Amino acid sequence: MSAGQTVEVRCRSCHRLERRDGSRVEVVAEGGGRAPSEPAPRATWRVMRAASEGELLVVGSCPCGQPLVAPPGAGLPSLPLSLQLPEGELTLRDGDLALGGSPVSPDDAQRKVEAAFPPPPPDRLADAFAGSLMVLILVPTLFWVSVVGFVVIFLTGLGSAPFSEPP
Ligand SMILES: [Zn+2]
Repeated sequence: MSAGQTVEVRCRSCHRLERRDGSRVEVVAEGGGRAPSEPAPRATWRVMRAASEGELLVVGSCPCGQPLVAPPGAGLPSLPLSLQLPEGELTLRDGDLALGGSPVSPDDAQRKVEAAFPPPPPDRLADAFAGSLMVLILVPTLFWVSVVGFVVIFLTGLGSAPFSEPP
């Protein structure tokens, strides 16, 4: 890295932000307040895949356990990353992915990561909210239907009332 060049290093999961200038590290935002919304290995895999496609550099590890990344061309040395899968260790080294020591394509690796770390179950709270919305919509509808029903019955009853008969 050229002297005086400041590089922003961040964590994609907890939003920690550091500014690095040579060996000087300034922590701009501590982060740590946000956990990934998915299993941690899936979040790590996203970073691995982006790094293997040259979108970013892995330059460190965050206190939250996720990698710290910098833009490509930041001039920082890139660090290897690894994930333990049932098939072996998935590693990223200098932008190359390997599984158990043999090269693996990003798509194959993604399938294996997704199989090993399934997404979290659906949000029950969101389901309950959708359910209560349905009830909120249903109640006025039923009320309206019953009011219309009463009016129809009332008008039908009028037809047979004594005062409406011809004189
Ligand atoms: Zn973090």
